[in-house]
Amino acid sequence: MRPYIDVHAHIGMTVSRSPAVGQTVGRYMGRMVSAGVIAAVLCPTAGGPQANGVLDTRREHEAVSAAMRAFPDRFPVGLGIAEVRHGEAGVVELERAMTAGGLSGFMCHPGLSGHSLGAELHPFLEAAAVHSGVCLLHQAGSTANIAAYARRFPSITFIIGHVSLNRGAALDAAKHCANLPNVWYDIAQMPLNADESWDLRRLLSDLDGGRLLFGSDTPYYDFRLTQSLVESSDISESSKDAVAFENAAALIRRFAPGWEVPTEPVSPPQIYTDEELWAANGARLL
Ligand SMILES: [Zn+2]
Repeated sequence: MRPYIDVHAHIGMTVSRSPAVGQTVGRYMGRMVSAGVIAAVLCPTAGGPQANGVLDTRREHEAVSAAMRAFPDRFPVGLGIAEVRHGEAGVVELERAMTAGGLSGFMCHPGLSGHSLGAELHPFLEAAAVHSGVCLLHQAGSTANIAAYARRFPSITFIIGHVSLNRGAALDAAKHCANLPNVWYDIAQMPLNADESWDLRRLLSDLDGGRLLFGSDTPYYDFRLTQSLVESSDISESSKDAVAFENAAALIRRFAPGWEVPTEPVSPPQIYTDEELWAANGARLL
């Protein structure tokens, strides 16, 4: 199978849903090598422990920074997280993480982190814009608000997560964002029973195929399902290469100049069994 670069990989624990779910960097590396993923853009999990408030978020940021330092060829770009309740303290921590910690921007999960993708995110976006950063935004309803962000913060590169999740989401993104050069898209997750309705060819024509990216949404999803649909899609081999890794490599080089796509498989620090890596309840990993 062709190599894959994952632009949507969460590290840490989500404890605000039951049962809790999460993964360490090492376990994710086990999943990477098991599924042919050779590099990734890391971000924290939303819904993580918050007993210590923004200090917990700092710990999440430091975990991403540590993975980038330990494996710069595999994790050339890392993102923080924006929790709406942290307000200015969260912006200060994000600024620290982007300067001292080497992160390139942030991820926002509206449902788990209390956002509406409205103006409450402007201070976080302004911090990212100062560094011409990248923001991975999980879609929440219409993408019209993400289009408004993209116009208001032209120096930020936006990735809309899960644009493939349903036909309506793809059409909405095409309507509002297709003509915005600083908006990219990931295909993390797919509709249930999507063999016929999941249409990568249509996504490639509706959106700019050069800005369509593979995302895993690990640890929430058995992303091998998405990979198998890419591989079986009725599109050219060159289009599959573009979605699987070439577009992501071009995106990553904007934030990590000189970075080269690794040619060797990942070497995880711990050997996991397939059962440990891929035990799932439906498509959701355990
Ligand atoms: Zn996600």
